[in-house]
Amino acid sequence: MSTMTLLRVLATTFLLVSLVVINSPTFAVGHTNQISGNNPFGFVHQLKGARRGQSIEGLRDVKQYLQKFGYYLNDDNKDTYANVDQNDDDDEFDEFLEAAIKRYQRTYRIPVSGALDHATTSQMMIPRCGVSDHGVILALRRFGDDRFFPGKPKWNKNHLRYKFGPKSRPPAGLKEATIKAAVDKAFQSWKNVTNFTFEYVASRTAEAEVEISFYSRDHGDNPPFDGPNGTLAHAFAPRAGLIHYDADEKWSDDPSPMEVDLESLGLHEIGHALGLLHSYYYAAVMYPYFGPGQVKRELQRIEIEAIRDLYNLPSK
Ligand SMILES: [Zn+2]
Ligand SMILES: [Zn+2]
Repeated sequence: MSTMTLLRVLATTFLLVSLVVINSPTFAVGHTNQISGNNPFGFVHQLKGARRGQSIEGLRDVKQYLQKFGYYLNDDNKDTYANVDQNDDDDEFDEFLEAAIKRYQRTYRIPVSGALDHATTSQMMIPRCGVSDHGVILALRRFGDDRFFPGKPKWNKNHLRYKFGPKSRPPAGLKEATIKAAVDKAFQSWKNVTNFTFEYVASRTAEAEVEISFYSRDHGDNPPFDGPNGTLAHAFAPRAGLIHYDADEKWSDDPSPMEVDLESLGLHEIGHALGLLHSYYYAAVMYPYFGPGQVKRELQRIEIEAIRDLYNLPSK
């Protein structure tokens, strides 16, 4: 085969591959390649361009999304654990939705339009941690520090044991040794920047401060997981010690663009379990969104400072 023929074959192959990729619903959306074919947040795509005054079927799902992730205020404007306002569960693009979208845009440094523009819907569709961003509003309202859970809950001991939960159901084909190795590394990273020591306990029924489990869909807490993509994992503030991975994701210790990194999400969720809320600095491990295949295994200065602040350690 001459060089020219080879080039032509390569070019044709590239073109074919590109066409398949472009036509695949999996890659239909924007610059971030986020998955919309099988995406619990994919409903946002249909609403692109919506703005105040319009009534479009599906806007109630946007309201639910923004309520779930902490962008609505309660009626009394005091508590950021905003529950669903019963009267606001319709498809009207009202002033409250516009205000919630503006808060969301400010948080993610998107130009503040108050509309569901391209930049906003693209951001909203990326898979993410299920823990609410409500700390942002806390800070905006000057009621507290957006780096920590309200009331700054934290552990009162330095040695924490961890185990896998007795009801944990990791996806078939994912070896427990693989999960443990990734989780061990994540704990090690937090140990390196704090006074914590962590100890793995093999017995699932033994006592341990932190319990890690894989669950699907509704698993007895709120909000439930949502199948592949969408919400990837969540964790609870100290001293609950609960970290849950969504068992319907494609987890890996060496993720392809279609997989989710066990260690990165472990590092993120342990951060919550130790008392940190989200960070809105894109490079931070505690940033809520994780694009397909994204790996973040190194704690950034901003979150190291935060955890050391929380536990009254001198800054590093
Ligand atoms: Zn999170
Ligand atoms: Zn859970």
